[in-house]
Amino acid sequence: MRWDNLRLTDAGQDDPAVPLFARGAVTRTFDTPEFAGTTFYEIQARSIINRVPGASRVPFEYTINPYRGCGHRCIYCFARKTHEYLDLDAGADFDSKIVVKVNAAELARRELAAPRWRGAHVAMGTNVDCYQRAEGRYRLMRGILEALRDAANPFSVLTKGTLILRDLDLLTEAAEVTDVSAALSVGFVDPDVWRAVEPGTPNPLRRLEVCATLNEHGIGCGVLMAPILPYLTDSPAQLERTVKEIARAGATHVSPIVLHLRPGAREWWLAWLSRAHPRLVPRYLELYGRGAYAPAAYQSRVTEQVKELARRHGIGGGRNRRSAPRPTPGRPPAAAGPQQLTLM
Ligand code: SF4
Repeated sequence: MRWDNLRLTDAGQDDPAVPLFARGAVTRTFDTPEFAGTTFYEIQARSIINRVPGASRVPFEYTINPYRGCGHRCIYCFARKTHEYLDLDAGADFDSKIVVKVNAAELARRELAAPRWRGAHVAMGTNVDCYQRAEGRYRLMRGILEALRDAANPFSVLTKGTLILRDLDLLTEAAEVTDVSAALSVGFVDPDVWRAVEPGTPNPLRRLEVCATLNEHGIGCGVLMAPILPYLTDSPAQLERTVKEIARAGATHVSPIVLHLRPGAREWWLAWLSRAHPRLVPRYLELYGRGAYAPAAYQSRVTEQVKELARRHGIGGGRNRRSAPRPTPGRPPAAAGPQQLTLM
């Protein structure tokens, strides 16, 4: 298991050449139906604010990710590949073996206070969901938000987790002293597709209620409409229903992104597709035969449809924009929100 900037909680057991299990990592399982089949690996991280490589196409430079792996278990999840860096697999291990950086809050407070830190925007939920189920037990985000609030450091959160409302008090306190924004990830509202491909997540309509609540409390919240799934959620009627619900939630913006299939997610998705919709496999191979992205013509057709629907349903227009993030010098502009180029 390669731990990069991580260290196991057992002192003296951090030789990266030795696999995690042989080194006796602190593992926990919980006896509740919610965590059945899930193993947590509690880690003392060495640092928590990560700098995003300059070549990345994302409009933020720094991230905090207190977890690795995600119990929301979205089949298409682009972060699956990152589990392989830990010598775990990108499929079932990603869903059920969750690495928890138990000292995340303490590190955040220390790093935000360091003289070299310049108060840059910090994006959260950009790799895996920081409000996934594990957060209900570990409560790492409360300490992180307290540290960001106390440092008056701007930040954003992208999530599918309704648990974010647990921390509404801290989000509103932070928004009094710095720029705070949020986005809910809702690619579609079709209940059958949701149950099939995002089995561990809250219902998309519930997520949109969260978006509405955040906006009502002055936390500017948009929607990352991602991923839009070719032949499963991209019909004009499905797009319209989703955009309509997003508008009803009062989202500050909607950012559509078509499914992309990088290695890791690709194998897991195609295996599921061949079981659930075998007739779609040849069509997907045609769309994604040349790489991780659907052809540009397909992408622009779908995103234009969503933009047109957004205009028609009045999304945007300056409501609830109190906390739009400031652009990071040298990064792409983040006019529609800091997570517009991610796919959480
Ligand atoms: S897409 Fe987001 S919510 Fe779903 S498994 Fe990946 S990190 Fe978790």
